[in-house]
Amino acid sequence: MTRDALVPFVFEGAAVRGACVRMDDAARDALAAHDYPAPLARVLGELSAAAALLAASLKFRGSLFVQLAGSGPVRLAVVECDHALALRVTAQWDGNAVSGLPADASLADLAGGAADARLAITLDPVDGPLYQGIVALEAGSVAALLEHYLASSEQLESRLALASAGGRVGGLLVQRLPGARDEGALPWTEASQAMDRVTADALLGHDADVTGVLARTFAGRDLRVFAPRTPRFACRCSPARVEQALRIAGAVEVEAALAEAGKVEITCEYCGRRYTYTPAQARSLFEAVPPTAPA
Ligand SMILES: [Zn+2]
Repeated sequence: MTRDALVPFVFEGAAVRGACVRMDDAARDALAAHDYPAPLARVLGELSAAAALLAASLKFRGSLFVQLAGSGPVRLAVVECDHALALRVTAQWDGNAVSGLPADASLADLAGGAADARLAITLDPVDGPLYQGIVALEAGSVAALLEHYLASSEQLESRLALASAGGRVGGLLVQRLPGARDEGALPWTEASQAMDRVTADALLGHDADVTGVLARTFAGRDLRVFAPRTPRFACRCSPARVEQALRIAGAVEVEAALAEAGKVEITCEYCGRRYTYTPAQARSLFEAVPPTAPA
């Protein structure tokens, strides 16, 4: 039985909200397509928990991307989570360079230093324009970087705890709702102090289901806990999307691939699914589609 769940909650009578997530199976499945080295797998786990918590906190339909790009041991790391908490992950890295890093390497270490690396959060709503925010990539944990980003870019006071170890992934987010300054700061101060005490063990313990984590973290506080949601791995690749990409790449590109390999083979970077086209199948993508006869 899966332990995976994301549970939103509010403090009763106070302008504090949040969510707690455990996503061991979802992260394992999302990371299964590649043999990620340990420091990268840990960071991808933390980014996955963060992406699920952020996606769940937003009222939107579409995808949220957290993307690290740099010129260091890790050139690219992408976590995509949509409004239904469907998650997928990919990365590009230099195996030798990553193996020289400590297990607790920071995002900045992985990306080769803060100077020419960037962490972007992109919202791609199905019914609206793209929105992108850039997270300052200073020293510090993934959670600390995102807390700073939420406070400075989104004007949302937030506390975030993330943990990823031994195939287990968890996270806890609390946010102070805007416009609630006049009702007293005590609940927020209490929540923030409680977050100071959250450990990786508390988030990842074998007996740590999300409601138990909430009850222990905010003991004595009246919480309203909403129905659990289930994060899961799901790739959005499909034959139609691959064929569209080949059409965009163009007939010249496709002929070059056929000349080299005798076929066209595309591997999805997220899930590892392989799409193979014979010369006839590949060329048919560029044939004019005959008009459909009226029914
Ligand atoms: Zn895929």
